[in-house]
Amino acid sequence: MSRIAYVNGAYLPHAGAGVHVEDRGYQFADGVYEVCEVRGGHMVDQRRHMERLVRSLNEIRIRLPMPLAALGVVLRETIRRNRVRDGLVYLQVTRGVARRDHYFPDPATPPSIVVTARALDPAKGEAQAAQGIAVITVPENRWERVDIKTIGLLPNVLAKEAAKQAGAREAWFVDAAGNITEGGSTNAWIVTDDGRLVTRPAESGILRGITRTVMLEVAETLQLRVDERPFTVEEAKAAREAFVTSATNFATPVVRIDGHPVGDGRPGPVARALRENYHGRAEIGH
Ligand code: PMP
Repeated sequence: MSRIAYVNGAYLPHAGAGVHVEDRGYQFADGVYEVCEVRGGHMVDQRRHMERLVRSLNEIRIRLPMPLAALGVVLRETIRRNRVRDGLVYLQVTRGVARRDHYFPDPATPPSIVVTARALDPAKGEAQAAQGIAVITVPENRWERVDIKTIGLLPNVLAKEAAKQAGAREAWFVDAAGNITEGGSTNAWIVTDDGRLVTRPAESGILRGITRTVMLEVAETLQLRVDERPFTVEEAKAAREAFVTSATNFATPVVRIDGHPVGDGRPGPVARALRENYHGRAEIGH
């Protein structure tokens, strides 16, 4: 089956779909994005992802290219045309096409919008969660506004590639104070020796992951004790459990940090319980 991409109002064959060479996303990474899980053909947590999209756009002063209801239609139609049951839908909005110049273009310049969707094999994710993943730590080198979900992801790309080269799956950024901020494309969590769930507050230094927000709700229903506070690499290495969250990873256990086993080196019960209860709490579309 041939894939379809939505580009600025048209559903095009994915293989040949493109934007103009002077798109500001291409030239300046001047844009934002969202990734939603698709499950059983339906979007997971669309409402929250759209709220975050609007926030990201506002922060960098790009206008929403179409009403959210219309955007929802495009997202669903892209999922449908690609026949995705389980996978993800990707949405990117940039400041549009204009002669290369750092200043914002004429306000009448329409933002560019691209939507793609693709299937993921749920069995692969489950196998990864059953096994657990390794992470490495790398110095934080991103700008301060990581709360904005911008398409400027070069530090994340380099960090994740370094992880791959080291035989790991994810890289955790470590700030100047020695605290883990987040992963290249996931939020970071630990479970302390006394069973408390710890994740960094989202006020600074991280993207406020939608999965993170939902997991905090799941944790509450499971009556887990949660501390939103910074934690260090040393604390993470000494933790009982560690795990990452994101829209496509749900909760995935971390079993090694810089080669050092976490707990007994196997996925633990807290990450498992959060993962199992996640979709019961997330908002799944119809
Ligand atoms: N942090 C970063 C840097 C990310 O790229 C992502 C995934 N987009 C996350 C955290 C997790 O966010 P979410 O749970 O909304 O997928």
